[in-house]
Amino acid sequence: MIKSSVLGYPRIGKDREWKKALEAFWAGKLEESDFHRQLQEIRLNHLRKQQERGITLIPVNDFSYYDHILDTAAMFGIIPQRFSYKGGVVPLSTYYGVARGTKEATASEMTKWFNTNYHYIVPELDGALPQLTENKPLIAYREAKEKLGIEGKPVIVGPLTFLKLSKGYSQSETDLWLERLLPLYVQILQELSSEGVEWVQIDEPILVTKLNNEDIQRLNTIYKTFAEAAPKLNIMLQTYFESVQYYSDVVALPVKGIGLDFVHGYSGNLSSIRSHGFPADKVLGAGIIDGRGIWKAPLRNKLELLKELSTSVKPESLIVQTSCSLLHVPVTVGSETKLAPELKNALAFADEKLDELAILAKAISSDDAEIAAELEENDRAHEALKQSSDRNRSDIQQAVASISNQQLVRSRPFADRNVAQQKKWQLPIFPTTTIGSFPQSAEVRKARQLWRKGEWNTEQYAAFIREQIDIWIKLQEEIGLDVLVHGEFERTDMVEFFGEKLAGFAFTQNGWVQSYGSRCVKPPVIFGDVAFIGEMTVEETKYAQSRTERPVKGMLTGPITIMNWSFVREDIPREQIAYQLAYALRQEVEALEKAGIGMIQVDEPAVREGLPLKEEEQANYLAWAVKAFRMTTCTVQDTTQIHTHMCYCEFHDMIDSIEAMDADVISIETSRSHGELIHSFELNTYKLGIGLGVYDIHSPRVPRVEEMTSMIERALRVLDPKLFWINPDCGLKTRGLEETVDSLRNMVKATQIAREQY
Ligand code: GLN
Ligand code: ZN
Repeated sequence: MIKSSVLGYPRIGKDREWKKALEAFWAGKLEESDFHRQLQEIRLNHLRKQQERGITLIPVNDFSYYDHILDTAAMFGIIPQRFSYKGGVVPLSTYYGVARGTKEATASEMTKWFNTNYHYIVPELDGALPQLTENKPLIAYREAKEKLGIEGKPVIVGPLTFLKLSKGYSQSETDLWLERLLPLYVQILQELSSEGVEWVQIDEPILVTKLNNEDIQRLNTIYKTFAEAAPKLNIMLQTYFESVQYYSDVVALPVKGIGLDFVHGYSGNLSSIRSHGFPADKVLGAGIIDGRGIWKAPLRNKLELLKELSTSVKPESLIVQTSCSLLHVPVTVGSETKLAPELKNALAFADEKLDELAILAKAISSDDAEIAAELEENDRAHEALKQSSDRNRSDIQQAVASISNQQLVRSRPFADRNVAQQKKWQLPIFPTTTIGSFPQSAEVRKARQLWRKGEWNTEQYAAFIREQIDIWIKLQEEIGLDVLVHGEFERTDMVEFFGEKLAGFAFTQNGWVQSYGSRCVKPPVIFGDVAFIGEMTVEETKYAQSRTERPVKGMLTGPITIMNWSFVREDIPREQIAYQLAYALRQEVEALEKAGIGMIQVDEPAVREGLPLKEEEQANYLAWAVKAFRMTTCTVQDTTQIHTHMCYCEFHDMIDSIEAMDADVISIETSRSHGELIHSFELNTYKLGIGLGVYDIHSPRVPRVEEMTSMIERALRVLDPKLFWINPDCGLKTRGLEETVDSLRNMVKATQIAREQY
């Protein structure tokens, strides 16, 4: 039988007990010793599950108290100076200080882990004196062995990936940092080796991105050093999320095993193996069970793939494994009681994926009746979903096919629309607006619960929402904003709200995944053809407009954001899902316009998140993402003003695509970019309406008028004043009432000053 291996298991627990423990500890409701005990219990429980399901190589040290990159930094004593860390094992309070900030020191930056929705804490190298504070992988290995008799496989973030993801040093210092870190890695590996550890997994996902020759050189140095220092230790050099960029260099490294992703890097990795073969003296970690998707694997296809791989690799040198850590999927389908059977039956979360690994490992070397039955069962599950009426809406498929062949353009170019819109709306120079949501007070959340529990009927709830809208329309007028919003009080989440009102979506009860720290998200599942059922936002928007003379901006979430923040079906291309969403949302845009709403914002904060890791695939993605936005918005009249909003992201390489979306106005988060965003506009001339966020909504602090005036002045140095809007960075949902009102008042004052000076 061939070996099976997992690259990492979700930390959060079946009922998010990990999250609950962390939050109780932070709130001072859990003693530190109890906290450690609870986390250990969760950790052992996860190991036990893998053991029971017969996984051969079970990962240890994949567990974390917050984030595995922060763990790695802490293990090396890399703690920003502002936390006055004195060396030695990093105290829990310092560890959480770096992650979440303290009264005295701001938290370290957090950023997206490759192209996933997981966020890691960015290590800050400047000023650090790396030291090995504790051998975490060894501690984890011993625990698994002593408590459960598991011969674990310690997981470590590799040096190249760690350095590339860190900040606080310049390019030219890379080798210096490598020299500082390598001896620490060597010590870890030697200690593991003397302990009798058989396999370690060293994660180098950076190898799927573009590297230069110097990096390849560094890679050689790193793994040569390791091979010499711990010759008996089997290193599995693990890559994931895409195919490796420099296959021949990577497979030539002096390590025992190479782990490749045959799901998200399927074609690239497979063609590399086909054309260059695989070294006979190495073990192939074949990542064929999707660690990021939620669907059952088509087992027969996977078996075919394994069989093909075993023509290049001897069976004893083949390990079937997950494509990446299971961190990115929920824990178990077993918790779901409300999904339609054909859907539930087609899903596989972390635990079910363990079973799939075990079956495949068996199936490759035997074809007994039990395996045959499993395969048939798997065929039936796929077939049932394929046949479901939700996946076969010919009305939608035909409509989308015909629309996507049309010219998706507004009837006139922006320059002409701008004149028509100015004539209609008569807005002052530097119009002010907000991004959509206003504070969701405890009262709002309570009202929603009463309604959900059935204690309030729909009319009662709707009346409550209308009251909130009334309050905020008055407030916005009084503050002096030019373009108003209804406030999004009826929405919990900008994706879930639309998903619940569209066909083709399903919602799990417990399908949580970690987003960052203790924060988990429960993405909707797009399992069928997406279709418009009825108006989703018209009632509230129309009501808000009826209460004021000023324009009220309608508020929708865009197709790409809905798609990127959901788990999606895999039987059709993502592009098609985006178009189905666009077609559905376009019907909402049209309904809003018909109801007299003349400004409509389609939020697309997640466009950047979907960007493929491989540079050569990015242009194609951006092209269809832009097309989906235009499909959503292009049918409105010239005088109807289309807005869009994006949170902070690196725009410099995306400005052309953003321009191609052809939104009349875009608002972008700016404060956190420390002027970088403004700088990128210096080099480009953006020709449509634009609002650069003038205050940071992530902080409760009320910004002073002068701070905002200087932001405005800076922006006006590079942008056309006639196209410039003034707005906060993002929605205000999570802010308090008073600070929001005060901040907006200051924003309007800053605008008045700017108008006088102009
Ligand atoms: N309209 C949304 C809001 O204001 C936008 C949120 C976002 O960009 N993430 O909350
Ligand atoms: Zn935003």
